Amino acid sequence: MSKPFDFELERLTRPSSYSGMSRGARIGPRGTFFLETFGCQMNDHDSEKVAGVLLSRGYRQVETPEAASLILYNTCSIREKAAQKVFSRLGEYRAKQSDGKVIGVLGCVAQQEGEQIFERAPWVSLVCGSASYRKLPEMLAELEAGNHRVTGLDTDTDETFETEVTRRDNPWRAYLTIIEGCDKACSYCVVPYTRGPERSRASDSILKEVRQLADLGYSEVQLLGQTVNSYADPTPRKMRFSELLLAVADVPGIRRVRFTTSHPSDFMPDIVEAIESQSRLCDHVHLPVQSGSTKVLRAMQRTYSRDEYLEKIEMMRQAKRPIAITTDIIVGFPGETEADFEETLSLLDEVRYDGLFSFKYSPRPNTPSLAMNDPIPEEEKSRRLAILQEKQREIQTARNTALIGQTFEVLVGGKSRRENQWSGYTTSHRVLNFASQAKELLGTYVQVRVTGAGPNSLVGEHVA
Ligand code: SAM
Ligand code: SF4
Repeated sequence: MSKPFDFELERLTRPSSYSGMSRGARIGPRGTFFLETFGCQMNDHDSEKVAGVLLSRGYRQVETPEAASLILYNTCSIREKAAQKVFSRLGEYRAKQSDGKVIGVLGCVAQQEGEQIFERAPWVSLVCGSASYRKLPEMLAELEAGNHRVTGLDTDTDETFETEVTRRDNPWRAYLTIIEGCDKACSYCVVPYTRGPERSRASDSILKEVRQLADLGYSEVQLLGQTVNSYADPTPRKMRFSELLLAVADVPGIRRVRFTTSHPSDFMPDIVEAIESQSRLCDHVHLPVQSGSTKVLRAMQRTYSRDEYLEKIEMMRQAKRPIAITTDIIVGFPGETEADFEETLSLLDEVRYDGLFSFKYSPRPNTPSLAMNDPIPEEEKSRRLAILQEKQREIQTARNTALIGQTFEVLVGGKSRRENQWSGYTTSHRVLNFASQAKELLGTYVQVRVTGAGPNSLVGEHVA
């Protein structure tokens, strides 16, 4: 099942403010493109929209850079390693430009490095940060006209990136950005710099897209934003985030609604009440804590203390429906002492998360924490990360094992090469691999009884 063209929105009619310079390679409007994506779900979804813009201009998407006239690389700069990858990948693309291919860098590294990319990799023709994607049609026109240096690097915008066509990768679950950028200013983070200020999309536009998605057969939607729950409806309707969640869940055909990522400071009781009252809102909240030490949280400018964070957790634990909770943690932030790290470990014991994404602190350009003293040696960061991950592994194994014998609804998203083996997600976002004699299950909802558990997934059997 595939859905190459699936969504119509208002046409992009805004004026262009990019800069261009004539020279070098040229692509035809009906060329081919190869698009590679690194980073978070927001980047994945941005790429789906970028692909939509190109398809609606007559381009054809191809599987390899060799087959493409336009090679696009959607990048991530959240940690140093991710950003380094971009330049090594650009090195690989260098030879391809001499074949007359046009090469473009999109996303966070494009925004961060700007025109310096042309200095480091003169074979690149397009540098465009995510806050300028709405100008992509105009930038493509410049490339098609043969301009060799096209940039879109504005971040001072109050507009969101809405496309005529979005080419979604998954035929059943659709991502949908409801808020772009970030105003939170955590001291370690490049996002406010690379994605620009926070701007929310109009609630009527969101709901229109959800209705169209439902008509096309999508049953799960995932609302996206760096701080998704800071959503502030710009229309006179002024829908609260929790009201929007309920309105999305009310669209006929929608069976599951997810949202990520929530910021603890804006996580209010009405969100929990919405989850309690509407079973189509998934019983999973990703609530990044970053550290268990209030001292470190202050240095990170996270705007809450350990106790305030724990109050939000308690709010969820008191809900009438169990809610799975996952988080992000950074170890080795400047000045994090052994005692601070112990507090993070004790937070794990207290919350007993269902999942954890953990990272070693990575100093990033343009961030306040870059200037902080007391850096933690790399080996020490690695040691703390390993201890944290081992502790979480034990917690997840125990939590998952406690589910053996229970039956869950699963949206089937994968079929194993091994016969009669399928996989999918529960509403709490656990991976459940299961056996079934059924001939075709992809995209359907089935009941699965859990028979086994590991730290990262469950095993089960289809209950007819
Ligand atoms: N907006 C979300 C939030 O507030 O939690 C997450 C944004 S970021 C894309 C995802 C995760 O990357 C963060 O939660 C944080 O744990 C991690 N991260 C961000 N900057 C980092 C840095 N400089 N070093 C290490 N990890 C970082
Ligand atoms: Fe980065 Fe903080 Fe904004 Fe999340 S809330 S994107 S960590 S600045």
